[in-house]
Amino acid sequence: MRYISTRDVSPNPSKKTFTEILLGGLAPDGGLYLPETYPQIEPDELHRWRRLSYAELAFEVLSRFIDDIPGADLKALVDKTYTPAAYCNGRDPKNAGEITPVRWLEPGLGLLELSNGPTLAFKDMAMRLLGNLFEYALEKRGETINILGATSGDTGSAAEYAMRGKRGIRVFMLSPHGRMSAFQRAQMYSLQDANIHNIAVRGVFDDAQDIVKAVSNDHAFKSRYRIGAVNSINWARVAAQVVYYVKASLAATKSIGERVAFAVPSGNFGNICAGHIARMMGAPIGRLILATNENDVLDEFFRTGVYRPRKAPETFTTSSPSMDISKASNFERFVFDLVGRDPSIVRDLWGEIDNGGSFDLSKTLYFAHLPRFSFVSGKSSHADRIETIRKVYEKYGLMIDPHTADGFKVALENRTPNMLLLALETALPAKFAETIMEALGKLPARPPAMEGIERFSQRVAVLDADVRSVKRFIERHAAD
Ligand SMILES: *Cc1c(COP(=O)(O)O)cnc(C)c1O
Repeated sequence: MRYISTRDVSPNPSKKTFTEILLGGLAPDGGLYLPETYPQIEPDELHRWRRLSYAELAFEVLSRFIDDIPGADLKALVDKTYTPAAYCNGRDPKNAGEITPVRWLEPGLGLLELSNGPTLAFKDMAMRLLGNLFEYALEKRGETINILGATSGDTGSAAEYAMRGKRGIRVFMLSPHGRMSAFQRAQMYSLQDANIHNIAVRGVFDDAQDIVKAVSNDHAFKSRYRIGAVNSINWARVAAQVVYYVKASLAATKSIGERVAFAVPSGNFGNICAGHIARMMGAPIGRLILATNENDVLDEFFRTGVYRPRKAPETFTTSSPSMDISKASNFERFVFDLVGRDPSIVRDLWGEIDNGGSFDLSKTLYFAHLPRFSFVSGKSSHADRIETIRKVYEKYGLMIDPHTADGFKVALENRTPNMLLLALETALPAKFAETIMEALGKLPARPPAMEGIERFSQRVAVLDADVRSVKRFIERHAAD
């Protein structure tokens, strides 16, 4: 398996191995890495996979993407990542052994639980594998890395829990001082591991992100301090997410020929991109139902063919904050497939995007062929979210988080008779107690390990929102 860039127009495109792209970000031409071709899984083989445990299946799927790590080593990494003990935080502990259990609500409609990991959001599914892969690859090369990131919540905590205590890895995570919930702060700042550094900057999330960009653009500093990232464009994260689509599509269907639809609350298009790839590989997946919140750049594209990233004031904070994006960083991967994997078209389209523009495919054959990819989309507002949380609670006795509610709302709008449909649970309600309170007038239950975490002692450095203070902090701690 070799990887190519979505924008490589050279006559002899460069082809990389998995471990060559594992620690990097964008390709040198600004594109994203994708497999040269998607591995194909025959129906018979898929059928045999129905018997496998999550870790066994993860090994089968990932070894199609990763052929430059010896099988026994990859197996050990996967086994260490997907243990029941790491994924038992959620409800229904008797299902914890399944890692991503399906909870059927009524015939044909279920919830795919993806949020039973240590930070109660689906990002743990991929991030924990990334932590183990990074540690392994760095050790082989005798290198170390300083991961620098900015977070407004979910991603930062998933990254910190995945990287804590890992050899050769330090994390410097910037967050906006005083702007996260007490629970989110406690989740991150209570980590006492020496390799985790929380930096609260006096500013908003965009200030934190600008600092990360400025530091990463200082190439001398970046190479001297071996600065790396774990952002959502990382291919290994997408690959890890393919596994649960395969797992759930096999769990929901009984015979060859049956298909299941997935409803996916979407922001950066990372989660649903993995669903698209699982389907391209042959997993029995019907429709992919994409849901956005009020920040509806993706819903707009799937309805109209226009992709128009929003400018700063047009993107706003909602009650499903992990989907508040102005542009969808993984979307380029899907568009590469949509335009017949022609890198020159992707390069032209993203030439517009990178200059702050937009593109319109509505009058092209590509858009005419979009239905072949079987996506549908819709959006959800705060009022929809609240109503859906209430409805699902009343009807099924199930508490869902605001992001999952966005997916559920759009799922129900697109449900047809006889459809098998799974809504993805991307976070547990415990993370978003305020919105649950507004919807239901009561607080969500917390997993026992999270009881009272607001009282644990916290480790965080508060810095001014300027590049120099952050660089100085890194210089001081990169040698610990
Ligand atoms: C990150 C996140 C999303 C969006 O996922 P993408 O891969 O960015 O589309 C949805 N819900 C929750 C809870 C998240 O943390």
